[in-house]
Amino acid sequence: MDQVSEIREKIDLVNLINSYVPLKKMGANFKGLCPFHGEKTPSFVVSPERQIWHCFGCGKGGDAFGFIMEYEKVEFPESLRILADKAGVQLKQFSYDSSSKKEKIYELNILTAKFYNYILTEHAVGKIGLDYVKNREVSEKTIKTFQIGFAPPSGNALVKYLIEKKKYKAEDLIDAGLAIRTSSGLRDFFIGRLMFALVDSRNNVIGFSGRVLDPNIKASKYINTKETLVYHKGSVFFGLNIAKEAIKKEDKAIIMEGEFDVITAFQNGIANAVAIKGTALTESQAKLLARFTTNVSLCLDQDPAGIEAMKRSIPILERVGLNTTVIETPNGKDPDEALKTDSIGFKKAVKDGISIYEALINWSLKKDNPDNVSGKKNIADSLLPTFANISNEIIKDHYLRKLSEILDISLDVLNREMERLSKKELVGKEEIIAVETKKKSRQEILEEYVTALVVQSKNPKKSMDSVNNVALDFDWSTESFKKILLFIKNLQNVDIISGKNLYQLINDELKPAFDISFLLPLSEMEQEIINSEIKKSSRELANILIRNKIKEETKSLQIAEKAGNSEEMDRMEKNLSNLAISLSQVSN
Ligand code: ZN
Repeated sequence: MDQVSEIREKIDLVNLINSYVPLKKMGANFKGLCPFHGEKTPSFVVSPERQIWHCFGCGKGGDAFGFIMEYEKVEFPESLRILADKAGVQLKQFSYDSSSKKEKIYELNILTAKFYNYILTEHAVGKIGLDYVKNREVSEKTIKTFQIGFAPPSGNALVKYLIEKKKYKAEDLIDAGLAIRTSSGLRDFFIGRLMFALVDSRNNVIGFSGRVLDPNIKASKYINTKETLVYHKGSVFFGLNIAKEAIKKEDKAIIMEGEFDVITAFQNGIANAVAIKGTALTESQAKLLARFTTNVSLCLDQDPAGIEAMKRSIPILERVGLNTTVIETPNGKDPDEALKTDSIGFKKAVKDGISIYEALINWSLKKDNPDNVSGKKNIADSLLPTFANISNEIIKDHYLRKLSEILDISLDVLNREMERLSKKELVGKEEIIAVETKKKSRQEILEEYVTALVVQSKNPKKSMDSVNNVALDFDWSTESFKKILLFIKNLQNVDIISGKNLYQLINDELKPAFDISFLLPLSEMEQEIINSEIKKSSRELANILIRNKIKEETKSLQIAEKAGNSEEMDRMEKNLSNLAISLSQVSN
């Protein structure tokens, strides 16, 4: 417990978050684009004074640990480890740390990576794998760096090793995705495959990818670890753990398709390449890269599947705010092949990255002839839906004009066709994360605003004098805000007490709402203006609250009338006339 506070003391939240998300100073707080939901205007606020963060778009918030847990998708013990590392605090033994399921999977994966690597490099069973990688010119150093291995063909070698020798339980192996239960007992998940360890940017082995070597085997060429507690499909790049420093240094990441592309690039001195693993780039992969750079170059295979993957990546990369170029390999070969046959040409192509839309035009011109009608149609069909999604109008216009020249079709016709096609095919639609940002009602906005004005003022207790008391007599849609105001109002013998002190005093259940009102971005105002804002807004709020109550009571009155309950009717009428008086008071 003490170590937790020690770490919290040593970590500066603004610095910490700034290393993930660029922050800008805004008054007393810092603001940035929320990393947890897609947004174009910043609503993510960090308070250096209170060392807390809150997003007014998606409602998430917390302290340093909460941020790391949310961002890195880890549990508390792991976030503790990460922050202890950053703070330079040596963690005392945490029993729940090593016993947690995730930790156990990491442990098993490290052992397994070593086991596979041993089989490949030292054991007779792995010779077929070793011959294969040597044939592909993979050096011994690279085998070690990328933790390449071989899964024995027997089908239970790993299971035996981990259970008999290392005393793990069958359940642990299954949870780690390393073994499966079959009718003939527990079996290895990867059998007779060349193995690549999938390592996250913090050097945890989170899973494996296995490539089949025998071309006669009718199984998928590559299989990956199934979803486990630590491995989530589409959340990792092969090679990022090795490439991340080079990516930061060169401020650019090259995205390739397969393991061997990255390995060959690495051996040719291109150290900032990673492999997607799978068909298309995902949003979480794009966000992962955005932590290290704002520039990416797509170097995917130049075949129909690669081009499709490229198209689907565009909106994702754009949403995350990454500048994207394309590397066109010489003669359209995959990077592995291109580097082996013409490394100079490849390196030149890396230097001359072209725009992604340029690349798509080039590709469609290779496929179809723009001089005949069917060629024109195919080219337009393949490009227009993508162009339709270009958010920058100048860039969009530039490429439409270019296409209009190439096809010799008027801009007008292309525009109309683009509209028609984009209605049919929404590129990347399935990837767009719909964030539930419920529209707030005027009442909710006012409740939040009035509370924020009071809490953030120099003397909250004094600011309460400006709050219209009638507003405090009714039910609020967020009762916690009202309770915070009442708490401040009822403070005894306190002249000046700042928001920071208030936080210590306030009831625990009100703390989350207090954080929100403390961080709500307000423009800088003189105390006088704050007071008049409080007066004006709380009066408007009172007005809304009374009107709501009148509606409610009128309904009850109608029900009482129908039921012929005269006693109830009398009471309602009295209430209503009182409400009318209050309303006229706050309306004046
Ligand atoms: Zn958010």
